[in-house]
Amino acid sequence: MSKIETPRPIRGTQDMLGEAALRFGHVVETFDRVRRLYGFGRVEVPVFEPTAVFARSLGETTDVVSKEMYSFEDRGGDSVTLRPEFTAGLCRAYLTEGWQQHIPLKIATHGPLFRYERPQKGRYRQFHQLDAEVIGSAEPLADVELLALGDQLLRELGVSEGVTLTLNTLGDAETRDAWRAALVAHFEKHRGELSEDSLDRLTKNPLRILDSKDPRDRPVADSAPEIDAFLSTDAGAFFETVIRGLEAAGIAWTRNARLVRGLDYYRHTAFEFVTDRLGAQGTVIGGGRYDGLIEALGGPPTPAVGWAAGIERLAMLIDAPERERIDVAVVPMGEAAQGVATAILADLRRAGIAADMAYKGNMKKRMQKADASGALWAVIIGDDEVAKGEVALKHLSDQTQRWVRIGALVETLKA
Ligand code: ATP
Ligand code: MG
Repeated sequence: MSKIETPRPIRGTQDMLGEAALRFGHVVETFDRVRRLYGFGRVEVPVFEPTAVFARSLGETTDVVSKEMYSFEDRGGDSVTLRPEFTAGLCRAYLTEGWQQHIPLKIATHGPLFRYERPQKGRYRQFHQLDAEVIGSAEPLADVELLALGDQLLRELGVSEGVTLTLNTLGDAETRDAWRAALVAHFEKHRGELSEDSLDRLTKNPLRILDSKDPRDRPVADSAPEIDAFLSTDAGAFFETVIRGLEAAGIAWTRNARLVRGLDYYRHTAFEFVTDRLGAQGTVIGGGRYDGLIEALGGPPTPAVGWAAGIERLAMLIDAPERERIDVAVVPMGEAAQGVATAILADLRRAGIAADMAYKGNMKKRMQKADASGALWAVIIGDDEVAKGEVALKHLSDQTQRWVRIGALVETLKA
């Protein structure tokens, strides 16, 4: 027989078993609990969308659209894209599924996203996010609520100590235009000192130069004019209300005047929860207000704000969750006992007691497995016991054993 080579997994994807999977699950479960405390309803949207959903809403010039999307023609000749982020698909659903009737719509979801990036620690080609959005509210209290949700999520995950909320405002349209003009003038003056990528951004997306990671850009970016001098009265008042809300809710934050979201439709609040515990991939939650996005998708002007959190990055930060263990290992000895054991196993599980039984093996092997499984109890069933309608219930850590009638087993274990 010829040897068949097993296909390798796709670069930048992950398989998780044991602790890695438990960490991932704990992050998702915690989010699901916390989002309910805030009244965010659970939604599901497709993993792929027409390419136009992302191209229009993210803008052709962003890194995600120009370099990172998994786009392909399906068999019908339509261009489809594996979602690189949640917001665009959620806004598409808001428009096509009549979700407008529920505004302000507070929604949450989680799942896989796909970006063609260079894989490294904390950066994958299939990764996963938690996502929370408020669609249809222009109120700064919506921003505060989302920030509070992020803050509480991190607290309940036990990682808030090492994570900082960094906050900025991008102002309203008037503010942003004035600031943008001043930035372009500044960058033009220092053209010669900018990286090639930033020269490219200068025509397409000058705000992005501010958060360039290229060390050549840093001096020019750091000496660039800050938005504060250009804030309109309205934009200043909006930011002030967000800050007061955070103070009232007891949420710590720091200002990062260089924090931007590159896309034109971002307004007012922009934020990241960052940590220095993950090397270069230090942003665990990123978000902001995107009042112009739904219009870019062909909808009516609709204010909205949201954030996304990287599940893998959060999973790396948390303490290892306790391993999952069963309560009871069922250990049959002999043919007759096997059938009774199968019935007992079913009863225990139906009663909500986590129970397991090895598919095969002698008594010694099965007891070893029971010990290794971390189970609290072993239920040992021999042919004699079957005849008497009893089983031996053994406490695995102190090794004590007693006889229990089969009919009283569930009750005994629950007590
Ligand atoms: P980065 O600057 O790290 O590339 P980003 O600005 O592209 O992040 P967003 O699009 O705002 O990230 O996504 C929100 C969050 O999703 C990030 O803060 C991060 O935690 C996570 N994330 C983004 N891209 C990846 C990836 N390729 N692998 C793992 N997590 C990711
Ligand atoms: Mg990125």
